[in-house]
Amino acid sequence: MPDKTMSAEFNVTPQKVDAVVVGAGFAGLYMLYLLRDKLKLNVVALEAADGVGGVWYWNRYPGARCDIAAAHYSYSFSKELEQEWVWPEKYPDQPTILKYLEHVADRFDLTRDIQFDTRVEIAEFDDKEQRWLVTTKKGDQYSAQYFVPAVGILSDPKIPQIKGHENFKGGSCFSGRWPKEGVDFAGKNVGIIGTGATAVQAIPVIAETAAHLTVFQRTPYFAVPLQNKVMTEAEDKRMKASYAKIRKHDRESVGGMTLSEARPSAMADTPEQRKAHYEQRYKEGTFNLWVASYDDLIYDRESNETAAEFVRSKIRERVTDPEIAELLCPPKGITFGTKRQPCETGYFEAYNRDNVTLVDLNQTPIEEIVSEGMRTSDQTHELDYLIFATGYDAFTGSYLKMNITGRNGLALKDHWSNGPRSYFGLSVTGFPNMFIITGPQSPSAFYNFPLGIERHCDWIADCIVHTNGRGMAAVDVEQKREEEWVAKVTAIAEETLFPQASSWYMGDNIPGKPRAFAIYLGDGQVFYEMIEREAADKYPSYNFVPKGGEKTGTEASARVKT
Ligand code: NAP
Repeated sequence: MPDKTMSAEFNVTPQKVDAVVVGAGFAGLYMLYLLRDKLKLNVVALEAADGVGGVWYWNRYPGARCDIAAAHYSYSFSKELEQEWVWPEKYPDQPTILKYLEHVADRFDLTRDIQFDTRVEIAEFDDKEQRWLVTTKKGDQYSAQYFVPAVGILSDPKIPQIKGHENFKGGSCFSGRWPKEGVDFAGKNVGIIGTGATAVQAIPVIAETAAHLTVFQRTPYFAVPLQNKVMTEAEDKRMKASYAKIRKHDRESVGGMTLSEARPSAMADTPEQRKAHYEQRYKEGTFNLWVASYDDLIYDRESNETAAEFVRSKIRERVTDPEIAELLCPPKGITFGTKRQPCETGYFEAYNRDNVTLVDLNQTPIEEIVSEGMRTSDQTHELDYLIFATGYDAFTGSYLKMNITGRNGLALKDHWSNGPRSYFGLSVTGFPNMFIITGPQSPSAFYNFPLGIERHCDWIADCIVHTNGRGMAAVDVEQKREEEWVAKVTAIAEETLFPQASSWYMGDNIPGKPRAFAIYLGDGQVFYEMIEREAADKYPSYNFVPKGGEKTGTEASARVKT
């Protein structure tokens, strides 16, 4: 971290802007567009990478692909953009989504206001000036009225510290920091740690080119087919003609995308009815089995076990060696869908290949990385390349890395010491004029991200218009409102099986991280109605500070309702 006193030497006067946006992924690009082109503010976006794309910039691993259909997983704010862009597949791959975001950046001339290769190191609220002072790793400083981290919930890599890593003579990388030039696996012995959503996509693709692929599995996952397909010209035309209907339906749906309809209870159906229903949802692919088969799967262990057993039966059908099939089946006690359901294409068939080996780390744990590969308790697996598909410090990691301090020197890491807290995943008490996008306690990972992002950004832009329009310097959410909202989100989650499972949703993948379920599990449509009501009622949960308010009066008397 740069020394704050030193950083003044790099740039004596901070550059004054209306807003700093951090990140140039789906959220950062749209936020920049809205604030600059619709609100006519002076905005800079700071991006650590050398290009736009966010997670779609970093996740270049083989097989990376979106598991929400492009008809939903795309911007809806521009009809022209919808009509001109061609999605070649139903579920687009990473290169296509990256090209799309690059196209968006060019089309709306966003790149000129993005500082690339620029990582935010410190962001602090200046109580006297009612402005944010943002310092980058290079030492540049920006003074901004508004600070909008658009950093996503899964962008802080978690690479386990394994003894001996420094001795490995082969190559290695983290899945979400894939080398831009790619990696040629031809003739190589490759190892991969992890079997989550990332690895499940990468494994079948890498197996096709590597001489040998060794998968180090700690926990088997309930992976379900994606059912991707190439889009024909006729389908593309139909999609383009239906966008208005698709978007309307998405906005009115629970998760911001169109899925099949769930039945109320698995236990209310006969075993035959259940099987037929699960078969249908499995065939439909993506998240249909998970969220659109039975409503009670996430509440009721007995119901959940019927879906779990159905997926196990599919794994046993698809994997020819029964012993390997058993290792790939999550055992009883692991509930279906309480860890994120990976969507796969040929994942289980990859284990039928002669060049793929599955290592069960529960039987033979990792001991250390040695110069020639990975030593587990029973043998050394020779490797030329090792991939860490080991996940992220979700929800909080990328925010805390920016060393954010709010009013009266309150550090975000202290405010979040028992888990992340926010109002609607938009505002954090004590951090005035800071807006987060699809943050913790919003529907976030349980809602179609591009649509959730647009709805959050639209709300933020409206709130800024309101604040500026009334001549206010700052806007901050009341503590009581944040407390009530966090309690509500937690109470909804407590009703479900999620807190009983071990997952990144709960922070379990990061040693020492406080357990908290930070996703609003209620109906997404209801959520967005709530935030829209907050705006329509002129932000009753917020306090506003008039310009000069903090300088002239006590904090309490200076804050007003507008
Ligand atoms: P993840 O779901 O957290 O999976 C990490 C994997 O690494 C798990 O199998 C985990 O095992 C294993 N692991 C971690 N530390 C380990 C260690 N020390 N030793 C052995 N194994 C270890 O991470 P991810 O697969 O990158 O996915 C993260 C999220 O990104 C997904 O859940 C999804 O939301 C998103 N994603 C989306 C897409 C998409 O849209 N298409 C694609 C990829 C990812 P345990 O389970 O035992 O902890």
